[in-house]
Amino acid sequence: MDKYSEIRVPISHNNPSIKRNERKCVLCGKCKDVCKKKMGVAGYWKYDSEDIVCINCGQCANVCPVDSITEVDSTDALMTAINDPKKKVAVITSPSVRVSLGEMFDLPAGEFVAGKMVSLLKRLGVDYVFDVTFGADLTIMEEASELIDRIKNGKTLPQFTSCCPAWVKFVETFYPQYIPNLSTCRSPIGMMSSVIKNYFAKSIKIDPSDLVVVAMTPCVAKKFEAEREELRSYYGKDTNFVVSVREVGRLAKRNKIKFSTLKDEPFDSHFPTGSGAGVIFGASGGVMEAAVRTAYYFTTGENPPSDLLQFKKLRGYKDVKTASVNLLGKEIKLCVIFGTMQARDVLNRLKSKNYDMIEVMACPNGCVGGGGQPKSNNPDERVVARAKGLYDQDAKMDIKSSFENPKIQALYKEFLISPLSEKAEQYLHTSYRAREYKK
Ligand code: SF4
Ligand code: SF4
Ligand code: SF4
Repeated sequence: MDKYSEIRVPISHNNPSIKRNERKCVLCGKCKDVCKKKMGVAGYWKYDSEDIVCINCGQCANVCPVDSITEVDSTDALMTAINDPKKKVAVITSPSVRVSLGEMFDLPAGEFVAGKMVSLLKRLGVDYVFDVTFGADLTIMEEASELIDRIKNGKTLPQFTSCCPAWVKFVETFYPQYIPNLSTCRSPIGMMSSVIKNYFAKSIKIDPSDLVVVAMTPCVAKKFEAEREELRSYYGKDTNFVVSVREVGRLAKRNKIKFSTLKDEPFDSHFPTGSGAGVIFGASGGVMEAAVRTAYYFTTGENPPSDLLQFKKLRGYKDVKTASVNLLGKEIKLCVIFGTMQARDVLNRLKSKNYDMIEVMACPNGCVGGGGQPKSNNPDERVVARAKGLYDQDAKMDIKSSFENPKIQALYKEFLISPLSEKAEQYLHTSYRAREYKK
């Protein structure tokens, strides 16, 4: 047991997301403070237990003033895969990294650098760069269909979003009675990796075990998600490993790549960029707004009206937001939360409130405030600027909703058949398990 656990968070030696450099720790207690007050984890389990409870969010690393806590580094693994002539490497990039990577090279928060990011990854030797906004569109096709199915057929409600692995682990640990509420949809990275291994690998005639899928994310909880038994198949892991924005920034510097001089390059065209709905996944409220756009179409056959394409009540830097929308002749009540401590509060009062869908993202303002994002002395300002960058991009896009994406439609036609089909369940959905801990 950590002899300083009265002051700081203990970290297990096999935590896949974070580690501590003992020599740097100044025992300031900031890690424990954020873990307790924002994440609702420290203080909710017995510290004398050998089994350390951690939801892998990485917020302790973000607040550590001396970089004693950092992400577990996977950059060597990435370079080893790139340099292995038997392997092909596909990097898939999360929605929010395109508005934060620039900060690693002194550009302002929120600056849209998707083209330079692709170029940087190609310079490092990556074979394919795909956009996870495509995976986010897939998630929405499935999640909106699941919501409609639950409402129509009287199944368990509210439906909880499941794209944040820290939130999923939080439910599995502290609120296992709500596991049936979690959407069975894999996260966008989980879906994208599965489609790459099971569909794309075949199309380029490569054994899926020779195709290394690496997720570039704002998130260190994804390092935990990639290890989940539920996300493995005969070829091994769907997502081989995960690198954060900070790791990619450091790797570029180690390789003396001048970010500012890179020319924009497009994502590889096998999976083109997703819709505007996929882009806004990176901000708190974005998943809900994206789901509403497509659920509206699925239930009415019509494109969503302009107020649902700019669902103002779901936007903004507020830890709990509520709204409602009329679907299937009913008022569907929505709740959006960031911070698992806030989620505790909502879950503890859930009986008296009646929501149909709840989005929870663990980090401040969602993935734009993720535990693998560039660190900052003014984090609130930065997460707002990054979210603005995503909403601005959505506003510029012609295809705003996941159902409109022609490549998504083609993928269903050629491979997945339809949302919630047997194939879609096999490749795009998952299951969860209760986790024991000492109270
Ligand atoms: S990663 Fe999150 S849950 Fe784990 S110790 Fe850090 S703040 Fe707490
Ligand atoms: S925040 Fe960093 S320096 Fe402070 S107690 Fe935690 S690990 Fe140590
Ligand atoms: S909010 Fe986003 S970055 Fe944070 S843990 Fe969840 S998925 Fe990861």
